[in-house]
Amino acid sequence: MKRTFYFRLSVFLLCITFLLTGCRSSGTAKDHTSSNEKSIYNESYADLFDTYVVFTIYGISEEDFYEVSAGLHDYLLAFHQETDIYNTYEGMTGLGDINEHAGKEPIKVSSQLMDFLHFCIQAETDTLGTVNVMLGSVTSLWHEARETGILPSSDLLQEASEHTDISLLQLDDEAMTVLITDAEASLDVGALAKGYAGRLAKQYLADIGIENYLLDLGGNILTSGCPQGTGRDKFTIGLQDPTKPTGSYKETAQLSSECAVTSGDYQRFFEVDGIRYHHIIDPSTLLPGTLHHSVTVIHEDSAIADMLSTALFLLSEEDGLELADRFGAKVIYQDDMK
Ligand code: AMP
Ligand code: MG
Repeated sequence: MKRTFYFRLSVFLLCITFLLTGCRSSGTAKDHTSSNEKSIYNESYADLFDTYVVFTIYGISEEDFYEVSAGLHDYLLAFHQETDIYNTYEGMTGLGDINEHAGKEPIKVSSQLMDFLHFCIQAETDTLGTVNVMLGSVTSLWHEARETGILPSSDLLQEASEHTDISLLQLDDEAMTVLITDAEASLDVGALAKGYAGRLAKQYLADIGIENYLLDLGGNILTSGCPQGTGRDKFTIGLQDPTKPTGSYKETAQLSSECAVTSGDYQRFFEVDGIRYHHIIDPSTLLPGTLHHSVTVIHEDSAIADMLSTALFLLSEEDGLELADRFGAKVIYQDDMK
């Protein structure tokens, strides 16, 4: 269900990009199209971050593209496995292991995972407590509710919220270990992992000299340079209209070496008595946020854009715009239904 949505969203965003940049592409796996001067290639991956990822490069040879794409895929797969909270993997320790060992013993991690967890802790401070990766005990109740259609009781939510303090996540930089100090607590990095993966991907591609591309991480859009060979100097992406079926848009964004990340109440939700319960939980009420439908944040760093989109979804427009301003981010609200 979730995967289907992201598949459609990704293809939609990609099609819009091609549509508005005047190129042809089906947006399917291993596709390429030639313009007068250069070729455009795209490849999709279905095994990353529980979503559908599409990577498009402009202006390199076919042979180079598939080599770069394979390298990027493997690099992102390793980060996906490290940050997967639901599974553990042979030969590597990740957040699945850390959650499993909550309240027991510290787990040794890579420097990359350690850096990500530092970013997560900083995000809690930077977003005034709205984005808290230690909210796992609460978000898992809502996750279960989406599966069963039965609302969690306020007593259950209240009890779970007693195990969500960010200080329960202990990082030891010398020993390179991580410990959750409360057995009832758990990490949920859904608000930050894809954006952070985008930041890593950008660095990875810069290091090997790749300049012009679009990477769609399940709706987290990362662009670099321009759609070379199309005669345009920016990527144009369509933003899902939250009130319409998937694939409808009325807003577009022009991006060049920027990222656009959206948090919305139409992405993952269920309804009880006509009320929509979605997946972004306000830590102060323990309920899905009710202030907005869709918030898109545009910033050069996809990790910051992902952090801010979740935070702004939970903050008033006034507080959100002030926070965005501090980071130099642009914001598009689509709240017409409110
Ligand atoms: P996003 O789509 O980036 O806004 O992230 C939403 C995801 O982050 C949800 O599916 C949960 O896994 C997780 N999440 C929900 N509420 C919060 C919150 N207040 N702080 C941190 N993570 C959250
Ligand atoms: Mg986010």
